Amino acid sequence: MSAPAGFAGRPLVGVSRCLLGEKVRYDGGHKLDHFLAEVLGRHVDYVPVCPEVECGLGVPREAMRLVGDAESPRLVTIRSGVDLTERMRGWAESRVEELASEPLCGFVFKYGSPSSGMSRVKVYPEAGGSPLLKGRGLFAAAFMERFPLLPVEDEGRLNDDGLRENFIERVFVMQRWRELEAKGLTLGGLVDFHTRHKLLIMAHSVEHYRSLGRLVATARELPAEVLRSQYLCGLMEALRLTATVKKQSNVLAHVMGYFKRQLSADEKRELLEVLDAYARELLPLIVPVTLLNHYVRKFDEAYLAGQWYLHAHPAELKLRNHA
Ligand code: SF4
Repeated sequence: MSAPAGFAGRPLVGVSRCLLGEKVRYDGGHKLDHFLAEVLGRHVDYVPVCPEVECGLGVPREAMRLVGDAESPRLVTIRSGVDLTERMRGWAESRVEELASEPLCGFVFKYGSPSSGMSRVKVYPEAGGSPLLKGRGLFAAAFMERFPLLPVEDEGRLNDDGLRENFIERVFVMQRWRELEAKGLTLGGLVDFHTRHKLLIMAHSVEHYRSLGRLVATARELPAEVLRSQYLCGLMEALRLTATVKKQSNVLAHVMGYFKRQLSADEKRELLEVLDAYARELLPLIVPVTLLNHYVRKFDEAYLAGQWYLHAHPAELKLRNHA
């Protein structure tokens, strides 16, 4: 098996427009996020969306908020009480249909926005009083309902190292899935895709690793669309689960097993020390992964060289460098 092909295809990622520094907020300002604009932006292409501007509200405009039932809130301007719910819902419905023709691999929403926030948006009771942090912005809600399998996050949650790595890893997996589908999904293509993602899936969930393996093994018996949908659902469900240090340690030990006959006693001792330090959270994941990649090259281990786990996302993003 040849090595992963690298990151030739750049994922297409939707983003709340103000996070890229565009002055589209109600007060004429922006909410530039440096990581998104300057770091991740070097590795993905963005589709910026500003629901409030695109549905015809100007800049500047009156501020708005969510009001009423947290499950189905209304979007209302704060000072004059204009109800913009139907306008925003109608626009969002047609915008998500437009976006369906783009090979999006994820979306980063603006935290807290009544239009763009994906979770924990304030919803004010009709009768007044304190808001509940239980809402979802109207555009984000329409997007997540239309694309339930696409990775989504907000810029606030992306400040957490673990959530950031998880989201970006899923974006790159989705990009590879898009590439596979663009070539025409064949049984051989799916088997190869699954084989290369085995260790990555295992790092999130051994149960999903087994059930997806069983699904691929019986692929011939299933109609193509059923197979496609069951595989993608199971894959994205698995990758949403946290890859804990314990699960990662299990995968690292599994990888080490491939070299047990080639490593000298000294190399084995050094590798075990590194795995142990990682398991005790004294070293970041990048250290054992780098050492294992060294042995993959040194011993020309073809199966491991094809594993996306060992090259899950561009090294420049430093997503595995936190202890
Ligand atoms: S939060 Fe959403 S609606 Fe508000 S300015 Fe940013 S992109 Fe536009």
